[in-house]
Amino acid sequence: MAKVSLQKCDEYNINTVKKVLVKSIEDLGGLEKYISPGEKVLLKANLLMKKTPEEATTTHPIFVKALAEILSEFGAVVIVGDSPGGPFNEKALRGIYKSCGYDIIPDKEKNISLNYNTNQVTIHRDDLFLLRRMEVIEILEEVDKVISVSKLKTHGMTVYTGAVKNMFGTIPGIFKAEYHLKMSKIEDFTNMLVDVCQNAKPILSFMDAIVGMEGAGPSAGEPIKIGAVLASDSPYHLDVVATKLVGINPIEVPTIERCIERSIIEKNYSDIEMKGLCLTDFPKMSIRKPRVGGVARIDDKLPPFLSKFIINLVNAKPIFDYDKCVKCGDCVRACPTNAIVIDDKGPKVDYDKCIRCFCCQELCPHKAVEIHRNPILARLLKL
Ligand code: SF4
Ligand code: SF4
Repeated sequence: MAKVSLQKCDEYNINTVKKVLVKSIEDLGGLEKYISPGEKVLLKANLLMKKTPEEATTTHPIFVKALAEILSEFGAVVIVGDSPGGPFNEKALRGIYKSCGYDIIPDKEKNISLNYNTNQVTIHRDDLFLLRRMEVIEILEEVDKVISVSKLKTHGMTVYTGAVKNMFGTIPGIFKAEYHLKMSKIEDFTNMLVDVCQNAKPILSFMDAIVGMEGAGPSAGEPIKIGAVLASDSPYHLDVVATKLVGINPIEVPTIERCIERSIIEKNYSDIEMKGLCLTDFPKMSIRKPRVGGVARIDDKLPPFLSKFIINLVNAKPIFDYDKCVKCGDCVRACPTNAIVIDDKGPKVDYDKCIRCFCCQELCPHKAVEIHRNPILARLLKL
């Protein structure tokens, strides 16, 4: 049985968040069950890109600080880190930590620091489902324990992102695009995400669902107050409870579907032991999902006689809002297939090359990329 703790929390006040996190940890049996004093612990936050805490794209700094302090008081050596999208170097990390408000976290006396090790290592695994070899951030291999500290958000490609997808940040920035390219089918991509999480093996997972993101997540959506903190000894089961909390049917989320196929989660979720509060203690929610989440590329679902032209019309695609675009080129650099070029007007996509990974939308700092699908054709083809 996996334990999932659910607690209420309405504000990013360090004392309040700390109290709630202490309760969550008690629900899971206490830190001593998972960590020993003196151990080096990586808090893997979600630091996707330069965003302020109020934009709800990244794990809130108060949430991470509160957890870091609890671990420090227990005697752990705490390192906070992530490999955000784009280049993984010290300059990029400094910029992201500053924008995301993480400057408040490090404390030498308390053994709490931010990660600046940008080395990467190759690891070989023959026990995972899909991946045999992967590049990971070196800090992952250097610590004794890993804790996932995710943010509850919607996601254009995977419907929802939480504890499991958060671990994709253990892959160095530029390699993420390569994974999108090599595993462009949603089944392969989400099997890879589960593999990456199994490799990182978070001993505990915490979720900042005080304020989450709805709509065009993971970066272009709107903040939504949820008022919850989740914690679990299993990132896979935590995601089931988090999706239910915000009104998403867990099976709609491809990573959860893969976990059920791979017997990591029981089909009827009977292997979850709820701790703390119940879902019914929260008001019923129906989070606004991304427009085309989880069914972005549908070539294999279409009759084979349809022309490439029709397939391109029906597949979801990134569209650029030239009023918002500042031609910074981040989308060009993020695109794993080099499908985007920028001309006088702004970015343009070669849809024959586009694999619908939506990295361009995810990493556009100006919310200038939207995902569209022709609604009439989609309805006619019952998609
Ligand atoms: S669409 Fe976004 S990322 Fe691309 S050039 Fe414009 S502002 Fe930059
Ligand atoms: S254009 Fe956007 S969605 Fe298409 S492959 Fe490039 S980054 Fe992915």
